[in-house]
Amino acid sequence: MNIKGIKNDFPIFREHPGLVYLDSAATSQKPKAVIDAVANHYRTRNANIHRGIYKISEEATAAYDAARDAVAKFINAPSSRNIIFVRNATEGINLVAHAFARSRLKKGDVILATLMEHHANIVPWHMLAKDRGIKVAFTNVTLEGYLDEEDFKKKLTSNVKLAACTHASNVLGTINPVKRLVAYANKKGIPVLVDGAQAAPHLPVDVHDMGCDFYVLSGHKMLAPSGIGALYMSDEMIDALPPFMGGGDMIEAVTTEGFTYQPAPLKFEAGTPAIEAAIGFGEAIVYLQKIGMKAIRKHEIELTKYALHQMRKIRGVTVYGPKKAEDRTGAIAFSVDGIHPHDLASLFDAENICVRAGNHCTMPLHENVLGVNATTRMSFYIYNDMQDIDKAIRVLNNIIRTLK
Ligand code: PLP
Repeated sequence: MNIKGIKNDFPIFREHPGLVYLDSAATSQKPKAVIDAVANHYRTRNANIHRGIYKISEEATAAYDAARDAVAKFINAPSSRNIIFVRNATEGINLVAHAFARSRLKKGDVILATLMEHHANIVPWHMLAKDRGIKVAFTNVTLEGYLDEEDFKKKLTSNVKLAACTHASNVLGTINPVKRLVAYANKKGIPVLVDGAQAAPHLPVDVHDMGCDFYVLSGHKMLAPSGIGALYMSDEMIDALPPFMGGGDMIEAVTTEGFTYQPAPLKFEAGTPAIEAAIGFGEAIVYLQKIGMKAIRKHEIELTKYALHQMRKIRGVTVYGPKKAEDRTGAIAFSVDGIHPHDLASLFDAENICVRAGNHCTMPLHENVLGVNATTRMSFYIYNDMQDIDKAIRVLNNIIRTLK
């Protein structure tokens, strides 16, 4: 991969020469192609979609629909009708929680999550527990940072109505064997929601092969603008589940007595969507596909392997998650003896390096598995290179030397 060329595609690195951005797990930077696609939409065809019987509205509708096609192809969904545009991964999961709960859950039913989930894949289930009397169970995570598959299988009891699992952890980096997990669950007739927020930006995803019923993507973590994400639903679910929100665009007819709704995916997209962000999402996918998801994965394994090796040599540093770079993404959470993660992040910032500190929206993971309240996290993407890692390691060594 030509990282120098890739870095040149991202205007932020020209605005901030020397910036080392190691927080792509929080949000990615945006290439010029995506920024231009958004600006171009506003400049040339800004109009509402699915409504106007005039040229620029038809062009805006075509561009929005093309973005949906791009997402469908990117994850090998059977058709673009299986793709629902949402604001972010969080909204995708909440949509499933509401639609699923309204039609399929009753008191005493169980949702099986895992201890490595982001709060986005825990809190919606807790909310259902409170409102509907369902229970939330959690699959354990091993000390090595892997999902405990035996525990997952054991907990797939007859009252589990949905299993929810991340494809890749935003803290441990762990890539879960989602195809196997879906197979275990489906064998018992249990559908699976896979949170792809940290996987889809980094590795090839094939929902058809995986067999899951729900897969969520977060656009802003994969070069697209904020305010756009996607929810994949299998044919069975997308036809069976009722809408989540009511309003314009999702209806077929409304009377004083009631309403009928559009077929999928429009029945799940009430109101004016983030049209320009969806178009930017489509452009982001074109950009990623030009590089190739296999090449991106290979590059990130190389970076991760190098970073893990360098970090493990530093005394007083604890690195969390699988030891093998092949089993994980480039999100690396770590602790340094005697230095608070927030102090560490500020000291990195003083050297023009962006890292994340805190619980990364995974309090159950920190409390139950890592045994610390907060960690510091570096996370890599296509515009990072070995020099970025060398600088981060040099700074980390200096911080430790100075503060000890
Ligand atoms: N799931 C995981 C694994 C995440 O890392 C994140 C964000 O960090 C989310 C879900 C939420 O994503 P979004 O900001 O798109 O709602």
